[in-house]
Amino acid sequence: MYNILDQQLQFLPGVGPSRALTLAADLDIHTVRDLLYHFPYRYIDRSAIYTVSQLSEAAMPGEEGGAPMPYVQLRGRITDVWEDGVGRSHRLEANFTDATGSIRLVWFAGISYLKKSLRKDIDYLLLGKPTVFNLAYSITHPELEPIKSEGVPAQLLGLHPVYHTTERMKRQNLNSRFIEKLIVEVFRQLGTQRVADPLPDELRLQHNLIPLHDALRRIHLPANMQEVPMAQYRLKFEELFFLQLSILSFARKRNGKYRGFVFSKVGEKFRRFYGEVLPFQLTEAQKRVMQEIRNDLVGGQQMNRLLQGDVGSGKTVVALMTMLLAIDNGFQTCIMAPTEILAEQHYATISRMLAPLDVSIALLTGIVKGRRRTAILNELKSGELKVIIGTHALLEDSVEFSNLGCAIIDEQHRFGVEQRSKLWRKNINPPHILVMTATPIPRTLAMTVYGDLDVSIIDQLPPGRKPIKTVHLYEERHEHLEQLIRREVAAGHQAYVVYPLIKESEKTDLRDLEQGFETLCATFPDLRIGTLHGKMKDQDKADIMQMFITRQLDILVCTTVIEVGVDVPNASVMAVINADRFGLAQLHQLRGRVGRGAEQSYCVLVTRYNIADNTRRRMEIMVSTTDGFVIAEEDLKLRGPGDIEGTQQSGLFLNLKAANLVRDNAILETAREAATHILDSDPERNLPQNAALWQRLRELHDTSVDWSSIS
Ligand code: ADP
Ligand code: MG
Repeated sequence: MYNILDQQLQFLPGVGPSRALTLAADLDIHTVRDLLYHFPYRYIDRSAIYTVSQLSEAAMPGEEGGAPMPYVQLRGRITDVWEDGVGRSHRLEANFTDATGSIRLVWFAGISYLKKSLRKDIDYLLLGKPTVFNLAYSITHPELEPIKSEGVPAQLLGLHPVYHTTERMKRQNLNSRFIEKLIVEVFRQLGTQRVADPLPDELRLQHNLIPLHDALRRIHLPANMQEVPMAQYRLKFEELFFLQLSILSFARKRNGKYRGFVFSKVGEKFRRFYGEVLPFQLTEAQKRVMQEIRNDLVGGQQMNRLLQGDVGSGKTVVALMTMLLAIDNGFQTCIMAPTEILAEQHYATISRMLAPLDVSIALLTGIVKGRRRTAILNELKSGELKVIIGTHALLEDSVEFSNLGCAIIDEQHRFGVEQRSKLWRKNINPPHILVMTATPIPRTLAMTVYGDLDVSIIDQLPPGRKPIKTVHLYEERHEHLEQLIRREVAAGHQAYVVYPLIKESEKTDLRDLEQGFETLCATFPDLRIGTLHGKMKDQDKADIMQMFITRQLDILVCTTVIEVGVDVPNASVMAVINADRFGLAQLHQLRGRVGRGAEQSYCVLVTRYNIADNTRRRMEIMVSTTDGFVIAEEDLKLRGPGDIEGTQQSGLFLNLKAANLVRDNAILETAREAATHILDSDPERNLPQNAALWQRLRELHDTSVDWSSIS
């Protein structure tokens, strides 16, 4: 059956090929369906028309009786049009006049089109945001609607949707008003035909959802504001429901398809490690997580578990014990870390801990080359080598295992989805997978980003840790930082001084770092200071890090290469220069590099005095708490979920149109339950009432992310 919704947009009246291209490129709108799913972000009430003399009192009330919107509507004529300014300030100006006075209109874009199309012989209905300049009002980029002599048509008044548009769209006159007209046209073409609803009646009734057709009409063209919330609820639910259905059905398919290796015994090495080698008692949280992992490993299904634990919570030892279970059951195992430094550190820690147990272990990174590399690859293939620790060098095709039983991925958010799934395919039978992350993800997000992973959480730090003292310091008062470093180094500790290094401003950043290094050398001629940054050769990086670990350096001036995972318990000062250029998650990671021993540690966030409110808020949050989960929640509030580290590559949030994962937590949970219920009640996907639902899921899969690559 022909479906209007599948129609390409360019065939709608007024669109044509060029505007269709812009809509596709800028808003990813290709079909009528895409257009209907491009929702307005607010509404304006255009019932009132003001006069120029009323401007100061005319700000329009916003949606749902909220704060007044700074928009006004005027009716009048254009009396004069002229160009002014050169270069970036080149602009078109016009005089707009009604019976009570006139104001200035200004355009910076679309000038040649406007010059041709603006007319002086007709009335316009104007919508725009007045600003005061030189004691007079002016309006930049107003919307103008020509009015015929009979007066303002009724459909122009009343409630109107406002859509996001881009600069390029505006230049092609593809403004909000134009989109609204397209929507009206779509509903006109539909006539009495209704948009088919993918959700079965039973589900709709149970969750109080209005039909899709009504929801779409009301969200775009509400008769009054009371119609909007029900429509929003329905559309958010639908979006989150299909998201969860996707994730959960993928997880079920995989679990049904792959049998997991059964690690039936807790063997000799595990026992000896636990009884004789482990230098401390596991925390209760570590024990609980170990039990969860063990249950997976004997359950007959392939493990896919996310281990979440704040920085310093002790994930490495959990990884190590998991590896021992694999080895005791005759399998090989690996850890993949995102950086050379981290891989080397894991190698050092783990080979030290495994030394008494007689386990063959090797390190494979980009700097391992030649004969050494060939030997490692051969031993790995023959099965002689039991443990390999490395970077993404492990993903290369030349790396072949004899029987990889369990793969561990550290700081997994640093790896792209593709890389993770590659590791997964290293065996005919997929190995058990444990991914570890220190990026604390609020429950709502975890349910979605890792919807198909089981989650274990270490929510407790090892005993005896003193909370890190954090201060926000203005750079004018750097002597405080110097005093602190002096004191801590005198007490036998070490300090990190971190500089931002952002790709776009790499050169200036590196200069900052080098200047900082020189200043420190001048201030502390008696201390041993080293630099470390990503531009250095891998071997040099490794050497410098080794010097810091072995206390041959007192201060390490570096970029965020040390952000993830580095464990030097003797370091007690983390100074972050230009801290305003880091996000909360990154600051939390950086701070986690200290406070890893029993001594008091300090984090100093240095910024200019003059910083944006939002930045000041970030600093306040860092000063007020060391709880990674609190910080993650705050981060979510400040930035929105699309920006949270680790969620971006998953591609999930780019597609969310109606729902917001911060505010719509409750809907998400309900939608997840509903999706679970559908999967349980229709496992063969053959109930007739669900046909439209499965059809829609297939369509979504064709157009969106590939779920199968998320492991
Ligand atoms: P992360 O979770 O950030 O990877 P690590 O595994 O590096 O943390 O552990 C941080 C430090 O805490 C390490 O020096 C480790 O030896 C130590 N540690 C881990 N578990 C315990 C424990 N139960 N008791 C005491 N110290 C522990
Ligand atoms: Mg770690």
